[in-house]
Amino acid sequence: MLSLFVCPVCGRPLIREKTRYFCESGHSFDKASEGYVHLLPANRKHSKLPGDDKNMLRARRSFLSAGYYAPLRETLEALCVKYCPNEVAFLDSGCGEGYYSSGIAEALARAGKKPAAAGIDISKEAVRLASKQVKAVEFAVASAYHLPLADSSADAVLNCFSPLCESEFLRVLRRGGHFIYVVPAPRHLWELKCAVYDEPYENERVTASYEGFSLLETAQISDRIRLNGNQSIIDLFTMTPYFWKTPRESAERLKALDTLETEISFDIHVYEKA
Ligand SMILES: [Zn+2]
Repeated sequence: MLSLFVCPVCGRPLIREKTRYFCESGHSFDKASEGYVHLLPANRKHSKLPGDDKNMLRARRSFLSAGYYAPLRETLEALCVKYCPNEVAFLDSGCGEGYYSSGIAEALARAGKKPAAAGIDISKEAVRLASKQVKAVEFAVASAYHLPLADSSADAVLNCFSPLCESEFLRVLRRGGHFIYVVPAPRHLWELKCAVYDEPYENERVTASYEGFSLLETAQISDRIRLNGNQSIIDLFTMTPYFWKTPRESAERLKALDTLETEISFDIHVYEKA
């Protein structure tokens, strides 16, 4: 079976077999028992275990599987159904544990399309979790800065809260293909920030233009979620960038909370490759 991925050594198409991926030049990459493949050359790893750590991933999985971000996933599904052709090559760049890629692949199939869906992430642990749970998507450990995809091979690329390398997206998308970019809106997680910071600030509203792309639409999602139980509050905080930036004594304030109602709001920008 042909894969969406290409060989990280020579760039030729990869063929997917039960236990491995290989190219015609004879490069071969074993599949892990969960089904994913490691396509990150050793010299591009910056640390032994790049990407999100286990604690953060556990928090993400627990929070996302409770459905708090379902409005975001549903909107992404609808946008992909709207913009993707019937035979669609879809890439989730920075897929994490596959929450969005699995929803999108299922939605595309429900809409009668034939998705070939792939997800990559620099975190091996994330990709391992993703491929354990989601069978309709092929997953690889790879870098968003060196996507293991051929030029002009993708119909749609999603970036949902992960490192952005728009030149790579431009390269792998075909002409007329779509780049779907999720960014936090100004008051995203406002009440969570108020609980942690003395002087919280709103996110800047960003609508960037990227060379080679035209902006087609921006979908704005705004909702309120109610977190019950201290663990779900800690989980949400742990999966945000604030987790890394907040002094410990401020973060400790969250331990006193049993419930928290907070705004969630996202801007989803849809760009088309010119
Ligand atoms: Zn090769």
